[in-house]
Amino acid sequence: MSFWLWELGGLSYFCDMANNEDQFKKVVSHAREYGYIFASSEIYDGLSAVYDYAQNGVELKKNIREYWWRSMVYMHQNIVGIDSSILMHPTTWKASGHVDAFNDPLIDNKDSKKRYRADVLIEDYAEKIYQKAQKEIAKAKKRFGDSFDEQEFITTNPRVVRYLEEQRSILERMGRSLEKEDLADVKALIEELEIADPDTGSKNWTDVRQFNLMFGTKLGASAESAMDLYLRPETAQGIFVNFLNIQKSGRMKVPFGIAQTGKAFRNEIVARQFIFRMREFEQMEMQFFVRPGEELKWYEYWKETRLKWHLSLGMGEENYRFHDHEKMAHYANAATDIEFDYPFGFKELEGIHSRTDFDLKAHEKFSGKKLQFFDHELNESYVPYVVETSIGLDRMFLAVMSNSLQDETLEDGSVRTVLKLPAILAPVKAAVLPLVKKDSLPEIAHKIIDDLKWDYNVVYDEKDAVGRRYRRQDAAGTPFCITVDHQTIEDNTVTIRYRDTMEQERISIEEISEKMKETISYKNWLSK
Ligand code: ATP
Repeated sequence: MSFWLWELGGLSYFCDMANNEDQFKKVVSHAREYGYIFASSEIYDGLSAVYDYAQNGVELKKNIREYWWRSMVYMHQNIVGIDSSILMHPTTWKASGHVDAFNDPLIDNKDSKKRYRADVLIEDYAEKIYQKAQKEIAKAKKRFGDSFDEQEFITTNPRVVRYLEEQRSILERMGRSLEKEDLADVKALIEELEIADPDTGSKNWTDVRQFNLMFGTKLGASAESAMDLYLRPETAQGIFVNFLNIQKSGRMKVPFGIAQTGKAFRNEIVARQFIFRMREFEQMEMQFFVRPGEELKWYEYWKETRLKWHLSLGMGEENYRFHDHEKMAHYANAATDIEFDYPFGFKELEGIHSRTDFDLKAHEKFSGKKLQFFDHELNESYVPYVVETSIGLDRMFLAVMSNSLQDETLEDGSVRTVLKLPAILAPVKAAVLPLVKKDSLPEIAHKIIDDLKWDYNVVYDEKDAVGRRYRRQDAAGTPFCITVDHQTIEDNTVTIRYRDTMEQERISIEEISEKMKETISYKNWLSK
Protein backbone atom coordinates (compact mmCIF):
# COMPACT_ATOMS: atom_id res chain seq x y z
CA MET A 1 0.00 0.00 0.00
CA SER A 2 1.36 3.36 -0.90
CA PHE A 3 0.07 5.87 1.63
CA TRP A 4 -2.93 4.52 3.39
CA LEU A 5 -6.10 5.18 1.50
CA TRP A 6 -9.35 3.43 1.76
CA GLU A 7 -11.18 2.83 -1.46
CA LEU A 8 -14.88 2.18 -1.42
CA GLY A 9 -14.63 0.68 -4.85
CA GLY A 10 -12.42 -1.89 -3.20
CA LEU A 11 -15.35 -3.88 -1.90
CA SER A 12 -15.16 -6.13 -4.88
CA TYR A 13 -11.50 -6.49 -4.13
CA PHE A 14 -12.11 -9.23 -1.64
CA CYS A 15 -14.68 -11.14 -3.59
CA ASP A 16 -12.83 -13.79 -5.45
CA MET A 17 -10.22 -14.85 -2.97
CA ALA A 18 -9.46 -18.40 -1.99
CA ASN A 19 -11.10 -19.91 -5.06
CA ASN A 20 -8.14 -21.62 -6.61
CA GLU A 21 -5.70 -22.57 -3.94
CA ASP A 22 -4.62 -25.75 -5.67
CA GLN A 23 -3.64 -23.91 -8.81
CA PHE A 24 -1.64 -21.47 -6.73
CA LYS A 25 0.22 -24.26 -4.94
CA LYS A 26 0.96 -25.84 -8.30
CA VAL A 27 2.40 -22.59 -9.63
CA VAL A 28 4.68 -22.21 -6.61
CA SER A 29 6.05 -25.75 -6.80
CA HIS A 30 6.33 -25.67 -10.59
CA ALA A 31 8.31 -22.43 -10.37
CA ARG A 32 10.75 -24.18 -8.08
CA GLU A 33 10.95 -27.49 -9.93
CA TYR A 34 11.58 -25.91 -13.33
CA GLY A 35 14.19 -23.39 -12.22
CA TYR A 36 12.07 -20.25 -12.14
CA ILE A 37 12.01 -19.10 -8.51
CA PHE A 38 13.70 -20.16 -5.28
CA ALA A 39 13.36 -18.81 -1.76
CA SER A 40 16.25 -16.47 -1.05
CA SER A 41 19.15 -18.00 0.94
CA GLU A 42 17.23 -21.24 1.04
CA ILE A 43 20.06 -23.21 2.67
CA TYR A 44 19.45 -21.04 5.74
CA ASP A 45 15.70 -21.70 5.52
CA GLY A 46 15.03 -18.62 3.42
CA LEU A 47 14.10 -15.05 4.23
CA SER A 48 10.45 -14.16 4.46
CA ALA A 49 9.02 -12.53 1.31
CA VAL A 50 12.39 -12.39 -0.46
CA TYR A 51 12.95 -14.57 -3.52
CA ASP A 52 15.65 -15.41 -6.05
CA TYR A 53 15.02 -15.83 -9.74
CA ALA A 54 16.67 -18.95 -11.12
CA GLN A 55 17.98 -19.81 -14.59
CA ASN A 56 14.58 -19.77 -16.31
CA GLY A 57 13.07 -17.14 -14.04
CA VAL A 58 15.75 -14.59 -14.81
CA GLU A 59 15.10 -15.01 -18.53
CA LEU A 60 11.33 -14.69 -18.18
CA LYS A 61 11.76 -11.63 -15.99
CA LYS A 62 14.20 -10.07 -18.44
CA ASN A 63 11.82 -10.74 -21.31
CA ILE A 64 8.87 -9.15 -19.51
CA ARG A 65 11.03 -6.12 -18.74
CA GLU A 66 12.12 -5.94 -22.37
CA TYR A 67 8.53 -6.23 -23.60
CA TRP A 68 7.54 -3.34 -21.36
CA TRP A 69 10.60 -1.24 -22.22
CA ARG A 70 10.12 -1.60 -25.96
CA SER A 71 6.46 -0.68 -25.77
CA MET A 72 7.19 2.36 -23.61
CA VAL A 73 10.48 3.71 -24.89
CA TYR A 74 10.92 2.43 -28.45
CA MET A 75 7.25 2.80 -29.42
CA HIS A 76 6.98 6.40 -28.16
CA GLN A 77 9.26 9.03 -29.63
CA ASN A 78 8.56 11.28 -26.65
CA ILE A 79 9.50 8.79 -23.91
CA VAL A 80 13.07 8.15 -22.77
CA GLY A 81 14.43 5.76 -20.18
CA ILE A 82 16.72 6.27 -17.20
CA ASP A 83 18.33 4.16 -14.50
CA SER A 84 18.53 6.17 -11.30
CA SER A 85 20.17 4.96 -8.12
CA ILE A 86 18.49 3.08 -5.29
CA LEU A 87 20.06 5.31 -2.65
CA MET A 88 18.89 8.90 -2.85
CA HIS A 89 19.33 12.05 -0.80
CA PRO A 90 17.13 11.58 2.27
CA THR A 91 15.25 14.85 1.68
CA THR A 92 13.72 13.16 -1.38
CA TRP A 93 11.57 11.06 0.92
CA LYS A 94 10.64 14.00 3.11
CA ALA A 95 9.44 15.87 0.01
CA SER A 96 7.58 12.92 -1.43
CA GLY A 97 5.73 12.36 1.83
CA HIS A 98 7.12 8.90 2.44
CA VAL A 99 8.84 9.78 5.73
CA ASP A 100 5.62 11.05 7.25
CA ALA A 101 2.94 9.01 5.59
CA PHE A 102 4.17 5.76 4.03
CA ASN A 103 2.61 3.67 6.72
CA ASP A 104 0.61 0.56 7.40
CA PRO A 105 -1.40 0.19 10.62
CA LEU A 106 -0.09 -2.72 12.67
CA ILE A 107 -1.34 -4.48 15.77
CA ASP A 108 0.29 -7.09 18.00
CA ASN A 109 -1.33 -9.90 19.84
CA LYS A 110 -0.10 -9.78 23.44
CA ASP A 111 -0.44 -13.53 23.99
CA SER A 112 0.91 -14.95 20.77
CA LYS A 113 3.33 -12.05 20.18
CA LYS A 114 2.32 -12.16 16.54
CA ARG A 115 2.11 -9.01 14.46
CA TYR A 116 -0.68 -8.28 11.98
CA ARG A 117 -1.85 -5.51 9.73
CA ALA A 118 -4.93 -4.15 11.49
CA ASP A 119 -6.62 -3.32 8.21
CA VAL A 120 -6.01 -6.84 6.90
CA LEU A 121 -7.56 -8.42 10.01
CA ILE A 122 -10.66 -6.32 9.47
CA GLU A 123 -10.73 -6.93 5.73
CA ASP A 124 -10.47 -10.68 6.28
CA TYR A 125 -13.35 -10.50 8.74
CA ALA A 126 -15.43 -8.55 6.23
CA GLU A 127 -14.52 -11.03 3.52
CA LYS A 128 -15.95 -13.88 5.60
CA ILE A 129 -19.25 -12.04 5.81
CA TYR A 130 -19.13 -11.45 2.08
CA GLN A 131 -18.53 -15.15 1.54
CA LYS A 132 -21.67 -15.94 3.56
CA ALA A 133 -23.63 -13.79 1.13
CA GLN A 134 -21.98 -15.58 -1.77
CA LYS A 135 -23.01 -18.94 -0.34
CA GLU A 136 -26.63 -17.84 -0.13
CA ILE A 137 -26.49 -16.63 -3.72
CA ALA A 138 -24.91 -19.89 -4.92
CA LYS A 139 -27.59 -21.93 -3.10
CA ALA A 140 -30.40 -19.90 -4.64
CA LYS A 141 -28.84 -20.17 -8.08
CA LYS A 142 -28.84 -23.92 -7.75
CA ARG A 143 -32.45 -23.95 -6.53
CA PHE A 144 -33.92 -21.64 -9.19
CA GLY A 145 -31.80 -22.67 -12.17
CA ASP A 146 -32.17 -20.66 -15.36
CA SER A 147 -34.94 -18.45 -14.02
CA PHE A 148 -32.63 -17.05 -11.32
CA ASP A 149 -32.28 -13.28 -11.35
CA GLU A 150 -29.09 -12.74 -9.36
CA GLN A 151 -29.31 -8.96 -9.23
CA GLU A 152 -32.83 -9.04 -7.87
CA PHE A 153 -31.91 -11.68 -5.31
CA ILE A 154 -28.95 -9.63 -4.08
CA THR A 155 -31.12 -6.57 -3.54
CA THR A 156 -34.17 -8.29 -2.03
CA ASN A 157 -33.12 -11.37 -0.07
CA PRO A 158 -33.06 -10.15 3.56
CA ARG A 159 -30.14 -12.30 4.60
CA VAL A 160 -27.97 -11.34 1.64
CA VAL A 161 -28.89 -7.67 2.03
CA ARG A 162 -27.94 -7.85 5.71
CA TYR A 163 -24.59 -9.54 5.05
CA LEU A 164 -23.61 -7.13 2.33
CA GLU A 165 -24.70 -4.13 4.38
CA GLU A 166 -22.70 -5.40 7.35
CA GLN A 167 -19.62 -5.91 5.20
CA ARG A 168 -19.97 -2.48 3.65
CA SER A 169 -20.42 -0.66 6.93
CA ILE A 170 -17.38 -2.37 8.52
CA LEU A 171 -15.16 -1.48 5.60
CA GLU A 172 -16.50 2.05 5.42
CA ARG A 173 -15.89 2.66 9.10
CA MET A 174 -12.36 1.30 8.84
CA GLY A 175 -11.72 3.46 5.79
CA ARG A 176 -12.94 6.58 7.55
CA SER A 177 -10.89 5.89 10.68
CA LEU A 178 -7.73 5.20 8.76
CA GLU A 179 -8.17 8.30 6.71
CA LYS A 180 -8.54 10.39 9.85
CA GLU A 181 -5.63 8.46 11.39
CA ASP A 182 -8.02 7.53 14.20
CA LEU A 183 -6.15 4.39 15.19
CA ALA A 184 -8.04 4.08 18.49
CA ASP A 185 -11.21 3.55 16.49
CA VAL A 186 -9.51 0.90 14.35
CA LYS A 187 -8.69 -0.97 17.53
CA ALA A 188 -12.22 -0.39 18.85
CA LEU A 189 -13.58 -1.90 15.65
CA ILE A 190 -11.39 -4.99 16.05
CA GLU A 191 -12.65 -5.39 19.59
CA GLU A 192 -16.31 -4.77 18.73
CA LEU A 193 -16.16 -7.37 16.00
CA GLU A 194 -14.38 -9.71 18.41
CA ILE A 195 -11.68 -10.44 15.89
CA ALA A 196 -9.28 -13.04 17.22
CA ASP A 197 -5.67 -13.86 16.36
CA PRO A 198 -6.12 -16.20 13.34
CA ASP A 199 -3.42 -18.50 14.71
CA THR A 200 -4.30 -18.75 18.39
CA GLY A 201 -7.80 -17.36 18.88
CA SER A 202 -6.57 -14.82 21.44
CA LYS A 203 -8.33 -11.44 21.54
CA ASN A 204 -5.72 -9.76 23.69
CA TRP A 205 -4.55 -6.93 21.40
CA THR A 206 -2.15 -4.02 21.75
CA ASP A 207 -3.06 -0.57 20.44
CA VAL A 208 -2.82 -0.02 16.69
CA ARG A 209 0.34 1.81 15.59
CA GLN A 210 1.53 3.18 12.31
CA PHE A 211 4.50 1.37 10.84
CA ASN A 212 6.65 3.03 8.22
CA LEU A 213 7.37 0.68 5.35
CA MET A 214 10.73 2.15 4.33
CA PHE A 215 13.95 0.27 5.03
CA GLY A 216 16.52 2.53 6.65
CA THR A 217 20.26 2.29 6.17
CA LYS A 218 23.35 4.39 6.84
CA LEU A 219 25.87 6.14 4.64
CA GLY A 220 29.35 6.85 5.95
CA ALA A 221 32.14 5.18 7.87
CA SER A 222 31.85 6.44 11.41
CA ALA A 223 28.79 6.16 13.57
CA GLU A 224 28.82 9.90 14.41
CA SER A 225 29.02 11.19 10.87
CA ALA A 226 26.83 8.56 9.24
CA MET A 227 23.82 9.85 7.37
CA ASP A 228 20.46 8.13 7.62
CA LEU A 229 19.23 6.94 4.26
CA TYR A 230 16.41 4.82 2.91
CA LEU A 231 16.29 2.12 0.30
CA ARG A 232 13.86 3.57 -2.23
CA PRO A 233 10.28 2.33 -1.76
CA GLU A 234 9.39 3.27 -5.36
CA THR A 235 11.33 4.12 -8.49
CA ALA A 236 9.18 7.15 -9.33
CA GLN A 237 11.07 9.67 -7.20
CA GLY A 238 14.28 8.96 -9.14
CA ILE A 239 12.39 10.21 -12.18
CA PHE A 240 11.02 13.36 -10.53
CA VAL A 241 14.39 14.50 -9.18
CA ASN A 242 15.85 14.06 -12.69
CA PHE A 243 13.00 15.83 -14.44
CA LEU A 244 14.94 18.99 -15.26
CA ASN A 245 18.17 17.18 -16.25
CA ILE A 246 16.35 14.95 -18.70
CA GLN A 247 14.13 17.68 -20.05
CA LYS A 248 17.10 19.94 -20.77
CA SER A 249 19.69 17.37 -21.93
CA GLY A 250 17.13 15.54 -24.07
CA ARG A 251 15.45 18.77 -25.25
CA MET A 252 12.16 17.13 -24.36
CA LYS A 253 8.93 19.03 -24.90
CA VAL A 254 5.75 18.54 -22.88
CA PRO A 255 4.05 16.10 -23.26
CA PHE A 256 6.91 13.69 -22.67
CA GLY A 257 7.64 10.69 -20.49
CA ILE A 258 10.50 9.19 -18.48
CA ALA A 259 10.53 5.44 -17.97
CA GLN A 260 12.50 3.38 -15.51
CA THR A 261 12.69 -0.17 -14.25
CA GLY A 262 14.42 -1.11 -11.03
CA LYS A 263 14.35 -2.46 -7.52
CA ALA A 264 12.17 -1.05 -4.78
CA PHE A 265 12.04 -2.07 -1.12
CA ARG A 266 9.16 -2.14 1.34
CA ASN A 267 9.19 -3.60 4.79
CA GLU A 268 5.75 -5.15 4.34
CA ILE A 269 4.29 -6.19 7.69
CA VAL A 270 2.45 -9.17 6.34
CA ALA A 271 4.10 -10.52 3.26
CA ARG A 272 1.83 -13.04 1.62
CA GLN A 273 1.16 -14.79 -1.62
CA PHE A 274 4.59 -15.70 -2.89
CA ILE A 275 6.04 -13.04 -5.20
CA PHE A 276 2.81 -11.02 -5.12
CA ARG A 277 3.93 -9.12 -2.03
CA MET A 278 7.67 -9.02 -1.56
CA ARG A 279 10.01 -6.95 0.54
CA GLU A 280 12.45 -6.48 -2.33
CA PHE A 281 10.77 -6.23 -5.73
CA GLU A 282 11.08 -4.60 -9.09
CA GLN A 283 8.92 -1.88 -10.58
CA MET A 284 8.46 -0.68 -14.13
CA GLU A 285 7.28 2.91 -13.97
CA MET A 286 6.70 5.71 -16.42
CA GLN A 287 5.97 9.29 -15.48
CA PHE A 288 4.33 11.31 -18.25
CA PHE A 289 4.63 15.11 -17.96
CA VAL A 290 1.74 17.10 -19.43
CA ARG A 291 0.25 20.59 -19.53
CA PRO A 292 -1.86 21.43 -16.48
CA GLY A 293 -5.48 20.81 -17.40
CA GLU A 294 -4.67 18.10 -19.92
CA GLU A 295 -3.90 15.42 -17.36
CA LEU A 296 -7.26 13.68 -17.43
CA LYS A 297 -7.12 13.30 -21.22
CA TRP A 298 -3.69 11.65 -20.86
CA TYR A 299 -4.87 9.59 -17.94
CA GLU A 300 -7.54 8.07 -20.22
CA TYR A 301 -4.95 7.56 -22.95
CA TRP A 302 -2.64 5.66 -20.62
CA LYS A 303 -5.46 3.57 -19.17
CA GLU A 304 -6.33 2.40 -22.65
CA THR A 305 -2.72 2.00 -23.80
CA ARG A 306 -1.68 -0.05 -20.80
CA LEU A 307 -4.66 -2.37 -21.03
CA LYS A 308 -3.86 -2.90 -24.70
CA TRP A 309 -0.31 -3.86 -23.73
CA HIS A 310 -1.62 -6.50 -21.37
CA LEU A 311 -4.09 -7.82 -23.91
CA SER A 312 -1.38 -8.07 -26.58
CA LEU A 313 0.05 -10.99 -24.62
CA GLY A 314 -3.10 -12.98 -25.22
CA MET A 315 -3.73 -14.01 -21.62
CA GLY A 316 -7.51 -13.58 -21.87
CA GLU A 317 -9.51 -10.35 -21.77
CA GLU A 318 -11.69 -11.74 -18.99
CA ASN A 319 -8.68 -11.88 -16.67
CA TYR A 320 -8.29 -8.10 -16.46
CA ARG A 321 -10.45 -5.41 -14.98
CA PHE A 322 -10.11 -1.80 -13.94
CA HIS A 323 -10.72 -0.87 -10.37
CA ASP A 324 -11.23 2.90 -10.37
CA HIS A 325 -10.49 4.58 -7.05
CA GLU A 326 -13.36 6.60 -5.73
CA LYS A 327 -11.29 8.38 -3.15
CA MET A 328 -7.86 9.54 -4.09
CA ALA A 329 -4.57 9.89 -2.26
CA HIS A 330 -3.83 13.54 -1.44
CA TYR A 331 -1.66 13.96 -4.54
CA ALA A 332 -3.97 12.38 -7.13
CA ASN A 333 -7.04 13.56 -9.04
CA ALA A 334 -7.74 10.25 -10.78
CA ALA A 335 -6.50 6.73 -10.12
CA THR A 336 -7.21 3.20 -11.22
CA ASP A 337 -5.70 -0.24 -10.80
CA ILE A 338 -5.50 -2.82 -13.54
CA GLU A 339 -6.39 -5.97 -11.65
CA PHE A 340 -5.54 -9.45 -12.80
CA ASP A 341 -7.39 -12.62 -11.93
CA TYR A 342 -4.69 -14.45 -9.94
CA PRO A 343 -5.38 -17.92 -8.51
CA PHE A 344 -6.29 -16.09 -5.29
CA GLY A 345 -8.68 -13.70 -7.04
CA PHE A 346 -8.56 -10.31 -8.77
CA LYS A 347 -5.72 -8.22 -7.35
CA GLU A 348 -3.76 -5.13 -8.30
CA LEU A 349 -1.21 -5.70 -11.00
CA GLU A 350 -0.65 -2.13 -12.16
CA GLY A 351 -1.58 1.34 -10.98
CA ILE A 352 -2.33 4.32 -13.22
CA HIS A 353 -2.43 7.62 -11.38
CA SER A 354 -2.96 11.22 -12.31
CA ARG A 355 -0.55 12.69 -9.73
CA THR A 356 -1.16 16.39 -10.50
CA ASP A 357 1.87 18.63 -9.89
CA PHE A 358 2.27 17.31 -6.36
CA ASP A 359 5.70 15.68 -6.68
CA LEU A 360 7.47 18.34 -8.72
CA LYS A 361 6.04 21.11 -6.55
CA ALA A 362 7.14 19.29 -3.39
CA HIS A 363 10.67 18.87 -4.77
CA GLU A 364 10.71 22.55 -5.77
CA LYS A 365 9.82 23.47 -2.23
CA PHE A 366 12.35 21.22 -0.52
CA SER A 367 15.23 21.79 -2.96
CA GLY A 368 14.68 25.44 -3.68
CA LYS A 369 15.17 24.69 -7.42
CA LYS A 370 12.65 25.53 -10.10
CA LEU A 371 11.29 22.37 -11.72
CA GLN A 372 9.36 23.96 -14.55
CA PHE A 373 8.93 23.82 -18.27
CA PHE A 374 8.83 26.81 -20.58
CA ASP A 375 6.09 26.13 -23.10
CA HIS A 376 6.89 28.08 -26.25
CA GLU A 377 3.43 27.63 -27.70
CA LEU A 378 1.78 29.12 -24.63
CA ASN A 379 4.71 31.44 -23.95
CA GLU A 380 4.63 30.58 -20.25
CA SER A 381 6.41 28.47 -17.63
CA TYR A 382 4.59 25.96 -15.49
CA VAL A 383 5.13 22.93 -13.30
CA PRO A 384 3.89 20.06 -15.48
CA TYR A 385 1.21 17.67 -14.28
CA VAL A 386 2.06 13.99 -14.19
CA VAL A 387 0.31 10.80 -15.22
CA GLU A 388 2.03 7.71 -13.90
CA THR A 389 1.86 4.09 -14.94
CA SER A 390 3.39 1.74 -12.40
CA ILE A 391 3.54 -2.02 -12.66
CA GLY A 392 5.28 -4.59 -10.48
CA LEU A 393 7.54 -6.77 -12.58
CA ASP A 394 7.23 -9.63 -10.11
CA ARG A 395 3.44 -9.36 -10.07
CA MET A 396 3.48 -9.47 -13.85
CA PHE A 397 5.70 -12.54 -13.65
CA LEU A 398 3.21 -14.21 -11.33
CA ALA A 399 0.31 -13.29 -13.62
CA VAL A 400 2.12 -14.83 -16.60
CA MET A 401 3.15 -17.98 -14.73
CA SER A 402 -0.22 -18.65 -13.15
CA ASN A 403 -2.10 -18.01 -16.36
CA SER A 404 0.21 -20.21 -18.42
CA LEU A 405 0.43 -23.29 -16.24
CA GLN A 406 -2.12 -25.82 -17.42
CA ASP A 407 -2.86 -29.50 -17.06
CA GLU A 408 -4.26 -30.79 -20.34
CA THR A 409 -6.02 -34.09 -20.78
CA LEU A 410 -4.99 -35.59 -24.10
CA GLU A 411 -6.98 -37.83 -26.41
CA ASP A 412 -5.40 -40.97 -24.97
CA GLY A 413 -6.49 -39.90 -21.49
CA SER A 414 -3.00 -38.98 -20.29
CA VAL A 415 -2.38 -35.59 -18.74
CA ARG A 416 0.35 -33.27 -19.88
CA THR A 417 1.57 -30.33 -17.85
CA VAL A 418 2.30 -27.43 -20.13
CA LEU A 419 3.46 -23.91 -19.45
CA LYS A 420 1.83 -21.95 -22.26
CA LEU A 421 3.90 -18.81 -21.82
CA PRO A 422 3.40 -16.14 -24.47
CA ALA A 423 6.16 -17.23 -26.87
CA ILE A 424 7.72 -13.76 -26.94
CA LEU A 425 8.33 -14.05 -23.19
CA ALA A 426 9.47 -17.69 -23.02
CA PRO A 427 12.91 -18.08 -21.39
CA VAL A 428 14.07 -20.67 -23.89
CA LYS A 429 12.68 -20.30 -27.39
CA ALA A 430 13.66 -23.68 -28.79
CA ALA A 431 15.14 -27.00 -27.69
CA VAL A 432 17.17 -28.89 -30.27
CA LEU A 433 16.93 -32.64 -29.80
CA PRO A 434 18.91 -35.33 -31.59
CA LEU A 435 16.68 -38.39 -31.81
CA VAL A 436 19.59 -40.59 -30.68
CA LYS A 437 23.01 -39.83 -29.26
CA LYS A 438 24.91 -41.27 -32.20
CA ASP A 439 25.17 -41.41 -36.02
CA SER A 440 26.29 -37.75 -36.11
CA LEU A 441 22.82 -36.51 -35.05
CA PRO A 442 24.26 -34.65 -31.99
CA GLU A 443 26.76 -32.86 -34.23
CA ILE A 444 24.00 -31.68 -36.57
CA ALA A 445 21.94 -30.53 -33.56
CA HIS A 446 24.90 -28.52 -32.24
CA LYS A 447 25.38 -26.93 -35.64
CA ILE A 448 21.72 -25.83 -35.63
CA ILE A 449 22.21 -24.33 -32.18
CA ASP A 450 25.34 -22.49 -33.36
CA ASP A 451 23.24 -20.85 -36.02
CA LEU A 452 20.16 -20.02 -33.89
CA LYS A 453 21.97 -18.82 -30.78
CA TRP A 454 22.72 -15.41 -32.32
CA ASP A 455 19.03 -14.56 -32.29
CA TYR A 456 17.44 -16.83 -29.71
CA ASN A 457 18.10 -18.48 -26.38
CA VAL A 458 18.14 -22.16 -27.40
CA VAL A 459 19.10 -25.34 -25.55
CA TYR A 460 20.36 -28.79 -26.44
CA ASP A 461 18.75 -31.86 -24.88
CA GLU A 462 19.67 -35.47 -25.62
CA LYS A 463 18.65 -37.24 -22.41
CA ASP A 464 15.69 -39.70 -22.36
CA ALA A 465 13.29 -40.76 -25.09
CA VAL A 466 12.17 -37.95 -27.33
CA GLY A 467 8.57 -38.08 -26.01
CA ARG A 468 9.80 -37.41 -22.49
CA ARG A 469 11.97 -34.60 -23.72
CA TYR A 470 8.94 -33.01 -25.40
CA ARG A 471 7.01 -33.15 -22.13
CA ARG A 472 9.92 -31.69 -20.22
CA GLN A 473 10.11 -28.76 -22.63
CA ASP A 474 6.31 -28.33 -22.51
CA ALA A 475 6.50 -28.03 -18.74
CA ALA A 476 9.41 -25.59 -18.95
CA GLY A 477 7.46 -23.42 -21.41
CA THR A 478 9.65 -23.84 -24.52
CA PRO A 479 7.52 -22.99 -27.58
CA PHE A 480 9.49 -25.05 -30.16
CA CYS A 481 11.24 -28.41 -30.21
CA ILE A 482 13.44 -29.16 -33.19
CA THR A 483 14.22 -32.81 -33.67
CA VAL A 484 17.10 -34.08 -35.72
CA ASP A 485 16.68 -37.67 -36.99
CA HIS A 486 18.17 -39.96 -39.61
CA GLN A 487 16.17 -38.35 -42.38
CA THR A 488 17.98 -35.10 -41.55
CA ILE A 489 21.21 -36.69 -42.79
CA GLU A 490 19.58 -37.53 -46.09
CA ASP A 491 17.55 -34.43 -46.92
CA ASN A 492 18.59 -31.71 -44.45
CA THR A 493 15.11 -31.51 -42.88
CA VAL A 494 14.06 -31.57 -39.23
CA THR A 495 10.81 -31.87 -37.33
CA ILE A 496 9.57 -28.72 -35.67
CA ARG A 497 7.03 -29.34 -32.91
CA TYR A 498 4.79 -26.64 -31.53
CA ARG A 499 4.28 -26.62 -27.76
CA ASP A 500 0.68 -25.42 -27.68
CA THR A 501 -0.84 -27.61 -30.38
CA MET A 502 1.74 -30.45 -30.29
CA GLU A 503 1.58 -30.37 -34.08
CA GLN A 504 4.71 -31.37 -35.95
CA GLU A 505 5.96 -30.20 -39.28
CA ARG A 506 8.86 -31.22 -41.45
CA ILE A 507 10.93 -28.25 -42.60
CA SER A 508 14.42 -27.70 -43.91
CA ILE A 509 17.15 -26.56 -41.54
CA GLU A 510 17.41 -23.26 -43.41
CA GLU A 511 13.73 -22.52 -42.67
CA ILE A 512 13.94 -22.91 -38.88
CA SER A 513 14.95 -19.36 -38.08
CA GLU A 514 12.25 -17.80 -40.32
CA LYS A 515 9.62 -20.13 -38.89
CA MET A 516 10.52 -19.06 -35.36
CA LYS A 517 10.51 -15.43 -36.34
CA GLU A 518 6.87 -15.70 -37.45
CA THR A 519 5.97 -16.39 -33.82
CA ILE A 520 8.67 -14.53 -31.97
CA SER A 521 8.79 -11.02 -33.30
CA TYR A 522 8.20 -7.91 -31.22
CA LYS A 523 6.49 -6.33 -34.18
CA ASN A 524 3.84 -9.04 -34.35
CA TRP A 525 3.21 -9.02 -30.63
CA LEU A 526 3.38 -5.34 -29.81
CA SER A 527 1.30 -4.25 -32.80
CA LYS A 528 -1.60 -6.49 -31.79
P1 ATP B 1 -0.69 -2.86 -2.75
O1 ATP B 1 -1.95 -2.07 -2.47
O2 ATP B 1 -0.93 -4.22 -3.31
O3 ATP B 1 0.26 -2.85 -1.58
P2 ATP B 1 0.31 -0.47 -3.89
O4 ATP B 1 -0.95 0.24 -4.30
O5 ATP B 1 0.97 -0.04 -2.65
O6 ATP B 1 0.09 -2.06 -3.90
P3 ATP B 1 1.97 1.01 -5.63
O7 ATP B 1 2.63 1.78 -4.56
O8 ATP B 1 0.97 1.71 -6.48
O9 ATP B 1 1.35 -0.34 -5.06
O10 ATP B 1 3.11 0.35 -6.54
C1 ATP B 1 2.97 0.12 -7.92
C2 ATP B 1 3.05 -1.34 -8.28
O11 ATP B 1 4.17 -1.95 -7.64
C3 ATP B 1 1.86 -2.15 -7.81
O12 ATP B 1 0.80 -2.08 -8.75
C4 ATP B 1 2.43 -3.55 -7.73
O13 ATP B 1 2.39 -4.18 -9.00
C5 ATP B 1 3.89 -3.31 -7.35
N1 ATP B 1 4.10 -3.59 -5.92
C6 ATP B 1 3.82 -2.78 -4.87
N2 ATP B 1 4.17 -3.36 -3.71
C7 ATP B 1 4.70 -4.56 -4.02
C8 ATP B 1 5.26 -5.63 -3.25
N3 ATP B 1 5.37 -5.55 -1.93
N4 ATP B 1 5.70 -6.74 -3.92
C9 ATP B 1 5.62 -6.82 -5.26
N5 ATP B 1 5.10 -5.84 -6.03
C10 ATP B 1 4.65 -4.72 -5.44
